[in-house]
Parts: sequence; structure tokens; C-alpha cells
Amino acid sequence: EAKSSGKNQYELYHLEMHQNESRHMILGTYLRKALERNEFYLVYHPIVDANTKEIVSVEALVRWKQKKLGEIAPSEFIPLAEEIGLIIPISEWIIQKACEDLNNFHFNGHSKLKMCINISALHFNQEGFIKSLNDIFVNTNVSTHHIELELTESMVMPNAVETVDKLIKLKKLGIKLSIDDFGTGYSSLSYLNRFPLDTLKIDQSFISGISDYKEDSSIVEAIIMMAHRLHLKVVAEGVENKKQYELLKREKCNFIQGFYITKPLPKHKLLAFLEDWDGELLK
Ligand code: C2E
Ligand code: MG
Ligand code: MG
Ligand code: MG
Repeated sequence: EAKSSGKNQYELYHLEMHQNESRHMILGTYLRKALERNEFYLVYHPIVDANTKEIVSVEALVRWKQKKLGEIAPSEFIPLAEEIGLIIPISEWIIQKACEDLNNFHFNGHSKLKMCINISALHFNQEGFIKSLNDIFVNTNVSTHHIELELTESMVMPNAVETVDKLIKLKKLGIKLSIDDFGTGYSSLSYLNRFPLDTLKIDQSFISGISDYKEDSSIVEAIIMMAHRLHLKVVAEGVENKKQYELLKREKCNFIQGFYITKPLPKHKLLAFLEDWDGELLK
């Protein structure tokens, strides 16, 4: 294509770089307005107990629908929000909204449902993190026993005393803690028994290959076994088909999450889904 359009590789590279830079700038400009324009919304992704087939929790996933640009993926705008200093108000909006919706799910008869919330590293490391969280739980009157925070390996890795302190404080508040995308962090495993964790979420990249590749299923089996020895529960994320589910169930994986159950759903569709769910799919 380089030849036909009359441009050489060098020019194309610079064109692309320029386009990326302008997208970055444009997104940044729009992102600054997104909260006041009410452009964020949440979808909820169910997590099912592999034994009882019950939906025990939902994970809140943020979405951004920009008027002109359409849907922007969180993997693009979350890092940008961190970079340009917007992550704290956006995170607080997400947590507030997730708590309000959790109250609504409880009110609608799903009184045991828990809410899993992804936490940004920058928010977690901020001085007032625990207070900002707790203020939201108090204001929305949500019980911390219904809350699970999803952290990543890189957040707990700087093995600092303050990190341990923070995690212990969160646990004392009654909040559950899980490690998201487990296995992708290149970190030492030493934090696993030093930190007060409840759950490991095996990254979906390990799940996608388990029905076809022996090596991938060996890794998943080893993670599950290790987690159980450490008294941690295991969630498999990214479960897309029956074969994967059956292998995970056989290996005693505690919880299942993925498109095989459903795609993430907006609040009202989730309520309908919860009403309809009978676990039949997993029998
Ligand atoms: P994550 O927390 O590991 O979330 C899982 C991602 O995988 C979600 O993408 C989900 O839609 C997708 N997924 C779940 N099951 C399947 C499956 O079976 N197949 C496939 N192909 N994909 C599946 P999403 O919503 O685009 O989120 C991407 C990442 O962005 C999240 O990864 C999380 O790190 C971050 N993120 C999303 N929402 C929030 C949020 O509210 N706050 C923060 N701080 N980060 C968020
Ligand atoms: Mg997550
Ligand atoms: Mg994950
Ligand atoms: Mg992931």
C-alpha cells in the first residue's frame, strides 16, 4: 500500500504517529467533559458459583459513549484518565453508581448479590483512597460485606508496608479482595500468602486455550490447586464455551465468568437476566 499511495514507510510511520497523537489529544479533551455530560454508564458481568450454579456476584465494567466518537473501550480511556489526572473523579463516579445499582438489585429481591469493582492503581495508591471508598459505602448505605475489590498484581507488587496496611484496613472493613488478571503480572508469588486476599481471577488468556492446548490446561489446573492450598477461591474469567466450563468444573474452579454465561449487561437487562437464570445452562 505504501507504494500505491506514493508514501514510503517513513512517511506512513509519521502519519500514523501523528494520527495517534491527535486521537490521544481529542480523547483527552472529550474525557474532561465526559462526567458532566453524563457519558459514562456501567454494565454488569455475572459471576456464577460452579457448584450451586447461582449468580453470586456481578462485576461492574465502565463504558464511555462519546457523542461524536461512539463507544470508547475502557482499555483505552482508563489509562488516559490516569495520565491526565481524571481517574479519581471517574473512579468515584463508578463506585458510587455501582453501589446505587447494587441497592437496586437487592431491593429487587437479589439480596445476597455481591458487587465486584475494578480498582485503578492510581486511585488505590492515593492517600485518601480508603476514606473515599468508605464515604461512598456510608452515603449509599451499602454493606461492605457485599463488596469485592479487584486489584492487579502490579498494584500489590511494590510490596511496601503501606500496601499491606491498606489491604489489612480494607479487610477489617469487611471488604473482599481479589487479584484480577492473575498470571499476567510477571511478579513473584510471595505476596500471595503475605497479603489478606480472598480470590484469584485467572486471566482469560489462560482460559481461551484450555480446551485445545494441554499446556494451557496444565497452567490453569496448577493455579487452581495452588490457590486452594492457600485458601483462596478461584474465578475463571473469559469462559466462552461448554468445553471450557466442564474442564474448569472438573478441576474444582469455584466460580465462572464469561460470554458463555452472558455478555456484560446494563442494569435493566441484568435484572431480567437474574430473573430468568435457573442454572440450566450449566447442568
Ligand atoms: P477486566 O477487569 O479483566 O475485565 C474483563 C474484560 O474481559 C472485560 O472487558 C469483559 O467484557 C471481557 N470479557 C469478559 N468475559 C469475556 C469472554 O468470555 N470473552 C471475551 N472475549 N471477553 C470477555 P472490558 O469491559 O472491555 O474491560 C477491559 C478492562 O478495563 C478490564 O479488564 C479492567 O481492567 C478495565 N476496566 C473496565 N471497567 C473498569 C472500571 O470500572 N474501573 C477500572 N479501574 N477499570 C475498568
Ligand atoms: Mg476485573
Ligand atoms: Mg480480569
Ligand atoms: Mg482480564
